[in-house]
Amino acid sequence: MAEQLLRHGAYEYAKKVFDDIRAFSIDEPGVSRQGYGPKEQMVHDYMIEQAKQLDLEVFIDKCGNLFLTLPGEDRTLPALMTGSHGDSVPQGGHYDGLAGVVAAMTTMWWMRQVGHKPKRDITMLVTRMEESSWFGKAYVGSLAMVGQLEPIDLELKHRYRDETLREAIASLGFDPEAMVNGEPSVDLKKFCGFIELHIEQGPTLDSHEKERVGVVTGIRGNLRHKECHVWGETAHSGAVNKEYRHDAGMAMGEFLMSMEKHWEEWLEKGEDLVFTVGVMKTDPSSAIAIIPGHVQFSIDMRSLSMDTLARFHKLMEEEGARIGAKRGVKFEFDRTLVCEASGVDPDLMGHIAKTAERCEIPHIHMPSGAGHDAAVYENVGIPVAMIFVANQDGSHNWREKMKLEDFMLGTELLFKSIESYDD
Ligand SMILES: [Zn+2]
Repeated sequence: MAEQLLRHGAYEYAKKVFDDIRAFSIDEPGVSRQGYGPKEQMVHDYMIEQAKQLDLEVFIDKCGNLFLTLPGEDRTLPALMTGSHGDSVPQGGHYDGLAGVVAAMTTMWWMRQVGHKPKRDITMLVTRMEESSWFGKAYVGSLAMVGQLEPIDLELKHRYRDETLREAIASLGFDPEAMVNGEPSVDLKKFCGFIELHIEQGPTLDSHEKERVGVVTGIRGNLRHKECHVWGETAHSGAVNKEYRHDAGMAMGEFLMSMEKHWEEWLEKGEDLVFTVGVMKTDPSSAIAIIPGHVQFSIDMRSLSMDTLARFHKLMEEEGARIGAKRGVKFEFDRTLVCEASGVDPDLMGHIAKTAERCEIPHIHMPSGAGHDAAVYENVGIPVAMIFVANQDGSHNWREKMKLEDFMLGTELLFKSIESYDD
């Protein structure tokens, strides 16, 4: 008899879990599950309920992160972890984070169905507050877990309410001070790896007909500027001829076009790079008949290679100086904010890629443009890898759509990778 595949056998189970959680987190037109809020807690409670039915061990750390373990044959071996975050952005999509949680739960359920006894413990992790949109800080649960949440973070304020992060954490019965004492909540050496399944938050996979699953090659780092300026000269739009102008708007335009041209050339050379100016504005007093004397803008550049970023950043400053000199304006860049790129573990990634080939799951290799909990664990030395699943209409918005068929393929790859980890 042919082996039954997870993608078919666990389909109804995964569908029910997604539907049950959607039912209590609906916030039209999307879903809302605030980190350290009641809906995120309901996800954790739901998973504990499932875990009890599967006879998994339940552990909640001092930060509220949930660990559900299917015991292996040799309990002295470090455990292999999989999971993601249970929170969402306000009125966001249903699948960012939750896909990885449901994939982990479905894998646990399937292991019980087929009677798979792993060699080592398999631990499913549900983290708290990965999204920064509620209190302005990302990876709160994961950072606290590895002992890297700072006391000052507890003072962060809720985006709508008069509530601090400290109060939100305390309202669920956890001790905020214990989360910022610099001590990891668990012995980090007890884990040999972390595999996170996540929806892709860009359009790459969805543009592929056949390959609906991605094996992640690394998580992009970024260089950012929050508040940059072009200083020119405000003047009358009718009375000043071209040669007398110091138009900050035109200078900004030239700067953008020239950076885009460099960017294209760098891509052709094979560098990994994305470049975004998300904020760009003239002054509130600007008007249809005024030559703009000032433009404020932001910079966000990301790459798998911090070296690429450093070189592109230098080029950007040079272009600002060059265009400034030519047009008699001044480009000013504020403090550079750096977020390091994070690698995935080559062995764990290789194992997943090999598993995908063996199981004939069509896939591509791709970088992750967004940050994820996995990056926090990589930074403390836990080998990490990620599996991406195609997703429609972007992410961090309520239109997020993931086809359950694609999810099942990704989850099958997760299960197969876990199943064959010690072979
Ligand atoms: Zn996420």
